[in-house]
Amino acid sequence: MTADLTIVAIYADLLGTYGDNGNLTTLLHRARLHGLTTDVISIQPGDPVPSQADIYLLGGGEDTAQTAACAALRADGNIRTAAENGAAILAICAGYQLLGEYFPDSTGARSPGLELLDIRTDRLPQRAVGELAAEPISPSQSTGSTDSNQWPVFSGRFTGYENHAGGTARGPSVRPLGRVLSGIGNGDGTEGSVSGHIIGSYLHGPCLVRNPEIADQLLGWAVDRELPALEEHSVNELRAERFRTVLGH
Ligand code: GLN
Repeated sequence: MTADLTIVAIYADLLGTYGDNGNLTTLLHRARLHGLTTDVISIQPGDPVPSQADIYLLGGGEDTAQTAACAALRADGNIRTAAENGAAILAICAGYQLLGEYFPDSTGARSPGLELLDIRTDRLPQRAVGELAAEPISPSQSTGSTDSNQWPVFSGRFTGYENHAGGTARGPSVRPLGRVLSGIGNGDGTEGSVSGHIIGSYLHGPCLVRNPEIADQLLGWAVDRELPALEEHSVNELRAERFRTVLGH
């Protein structure tokens, strides 16, 4: 029997800082709660990237690991095919930056990215380290979006932890994931990027543990239907504690 969806965990050894590999665990957990069966393919650099899977996960990493991961993904080429076929991609921090046009390498020079997202990353004036909180931006509030039907609608705030030296500028085809309430995010008052079925974000934590609504969006894209909201008490407690601590409410 084939599973409802296939998830590819990309280079978890290279790109998995600050617990980002927990995003896979959460995705599997949320899929189970929604009654969806899953297959997982974990790949390392040099392994072929499957082009027909439903969800691809990329985590954060140090500058050198980020450049190496980007080179391996470019040499393979299949992540572009997958994205063009409508696969969902969640990319955190280094993974997020490498989907753009360029990002700073360990010397600060611009290293070419995969150009799957219309974003560019340069060094921030100072490293962003600490808790990050953001609120969703409704499609009508965001600049550059022409068709509000294509954008996912998030209702809850976003919580996570950030640790990065790069700040990210978006082109017109990319919508921010949220507006920063505390922390740095992209560096311009926004956090993350959404374009098609790609979500890029600076939220570690891991992101999907703290923000299961994003996990459900990825799963919903994968099975092509909206999934019902499923509240988990422990997650609600965690989120409430983080927002209380970071925002004071
Ligand atoms: N190397 C990137 C930066 O410092 C990403 C860091 C990370 O993934 N945490 O901006």
